[in-house]
Amino acid sequence: MCKRHSPRSPGSPANSGRRPPHPEFAPAADAYAYPQHLREAIEQAPQAPGIYVFHGAEGGLPLYIGKSVNLRSRLLSHLRNAEEARMLRQTQRISFERTAGEIGALLLEARLIKQLQPLYNQKLRRNRQLCAWQMPDAGSGASAPVLVYSRDLDFAHTPRLFGLYSSRTTAVAALQALADEHQLCYGRLGLEKLAPGRGCFRAMLQHCAGVCCGRESAQAHDARLADALEAIRVMCWPFAGAVGLVERWEDEVQVHAVNQWCYLGSAGSVEAARALHQQAPGFDADGYKILCKPLLGSALEIVPL
Ligand SMILES: [Zn+2]
Repeated sequence: MCKRHSPRSPGSPANSGRRPPHPEFAPAADAYAYPQHLREAIEQAPQAPGIYVFHGAEGGLPLYIGKSVNLRSRLLSHLRNAEEARMLRQTQRISFERTAGEIGALLLEARLIKQLQPLYNQKLRRNRQLCAWQMPDAGSGASAPVLVYSRDLDFAHTPRLFGLYSSRTTAVAALQALADEHQLCYGRLGLEKLAPGRGCFRAMLQHCAGVCCGRESAQAHDARLADALEAIRVMCWPFAGAVGLVERWEDEVQVHAVNQWCYLGSAGSVEAARALHQQAPGFDADGYKILCKPLLGSALEIVPL
């Protein structure tokens, strides 16, 4: 972009006698001004919740999808660094879709990012790789959690699941971190093999409280493990079937249809949301993370669909 042709802001020294800066050494403030062709779109953006899309030049492909409870102020804050400035220079136009609140915006954003995989959004992981730790049934005699996968089990209805991870590596790292924090034994957790009759290496360092060498009882160890896991328990779907989560913004109402933690779509009324009611396509981690609190916290109205 040629700096000499860019519009000057009022009060800038048009003829100060200084040579214009070489484009490569242009001041940062110039680089971070909103491109002229986008300013109108931003001025028209509603001060209300929704999602916005930056479309690129070629075929209007989405470069970035974001959400906010206040679209206009979020868009105005988008020029904080060089990478965002570069993205905006590639942006041909901006489009919006209003929602009736933050939950609707989060759900729509997650769905669109997954569908369209915009260049500048971090790729959301596909659900097929999702895994969680499952604790053994109390009567089974086993003590170690087992890593289970959402492609094999229906996570919305499987009991004793903890954590949600995109890979075995992150799941193991999370369990190790939990063990380190609570002085649990890698051996009893199945994370390492113990030599018969010998405590684990971490017990010598006092990092394991010593269930492996008789310093504490299995009961005490497992109770501490159960307490620690409770914070990351995956909640079973608590309803008989699909529900609508009702969100309101001024005069607008949206009913978000959800089944088995899976977002089915939003509609302007309960009746219309019923039409979206269909077989849930499978456990959805993003849906779970967005919806768990609102659906269990019951601050919002929930209607059966
Ligand atoms: Zn140990």
